[in-house]
Amino acid sequence: MPRYRKDCPFCPGNEEMTPAASLELTDEARAKWSIRAFPNRYAVLTPNPEAPSAQSDDRLVRLPARGVHEVIVESPLHNRFPDRRTPEEFVGLIRAYQLRSAAAMALPGVAYALVFKNHGAGAGTSLVHPHSQIIATPVLPARAERTAQRADEHWRDTGRCLTCEVADGELTSGNRVVLTTDNFAVVEPFAAGQPAETWIMPIAHATPFVTMEIETINEFAGVLQTTLRLVSECFGDPDYNYALHQEPPDETACRCQHWYLQVLPRLKEPAGFELGSGMAINTLSPEVAAERMRGPLGGRGAVIPPQGKDV
Ligand SMILES: [Zn+2]
Ligand SMILES: [Zn+2]
Repeated sequence: MPRYRKDCPFCPGNEEMTPAASLELTDEARAKWSIRAFPNRYAVLTPNPEAPSAQSDDRLVRLPARGVHEVIVESPLHNRFPDRRTPEEFVGLIRAYQLRSAAAMALPGVAYALVFKNHGAGAGTSLVHPHSQIIATPVLPARAERTAQRADEHWRDTGRCLTCEVADGELTSGNRVVLTTDNFAVVEPFAAGQPAETWIMPIAHATPFVTMEIETINEFAGVLQTTLRLVSECFGDPDYNYALHQEPPDETACRCQHWYLQVLPRLKEPAGFELGSGMAINTLSPEVAAERMRGPLGGRGAVIPPQGKDV
């Protein structure tokens, strides 16, 4: 894979092939951008959509396709895939996620924003150059709504944040934990929906993702880099998606849940039953997946990598 392609819209020098940038983080040593965000040319939602066409059946609901859909180019290098990067390169990317999420969530009418990455053709990416995306929607997606309801019920029953409780439970049982640092746990969650589904969770109740401070960003960058490297090393370099589940923007909801990042390797395609029923069949138990991922780290037991450093 070359470092540069003349026909790639995400390579430096081809910026006119994309809409104008909404964010450019610069690399001072090179005086050029290191991360660049801009509206997706094929946006599924836009800030100023057309009104929906008239309808004859008022039982059906139509909304304007209002929202945000941006691309975040993760590196100026065409072939700088995540498992080859240093933790330092992830720091800028996490800053970009924070800045573009905050901007999207501040727009009137936005109810929810998801940062996600599709890595590899099998995970839905159409352009090879490493990039993430953010889509902000005018409604809460069903998954986020269900989580919010569960988190709210749990808060009323126990006075505890649901995400804190899940992280706590994983650390107590221990056999699905891949590694821990001061502030983060990497786990194969209980009853994972698919093989090698991996979560990076703040251990203690976290401030909103967008206000995470630099020391914690440095630590998270090291954890994200290590996790993606382990997924690639332990499961044959699979295509994968990841999704950053942020807490809802309103403060009351914020105390009942906090953010985490979900990595979904594409090791098994959902088939008829999964698609038809919405239930998962997982062919690799999370306990076995966790053990496999601990292998390169020296085996059983939680491992604490040096803060912000590759391990
Ligand atoms: Zn490129
Ligand atoms: Zn919490």
